[in-house]
Amino acid sequence: MGVLLIKCPNTGREFATGIQVDADTLSRVPQELTHTHCPYCKVEHSWLPREAKLVDAIPPGDWIENQNRR
Ligand SMILES: [Zn+2]
Repeated sequence: MGVLLIKCPNTGREFATGIQVDADTLSRVPQELTHTHCPYCKVEHSWLPREAKLVDAIPPGDWIENQNRR
């Protein structure tokens, strides 16, 4: 099980979507636009599953929950 990261189109920085999947599931999900709130722009970005990066774990400092508190 990992978590999906997407890249912010405005800042080029990656952030976690909070969506947890495994690689097998990710390869089978439909390529539908998903909207996720960006911690950098404070707006929602739309993205496709194939654009997301699956990582096993992210450091706590990269969690959206922690970034919102800064
Ligand atoms: Zn953004």
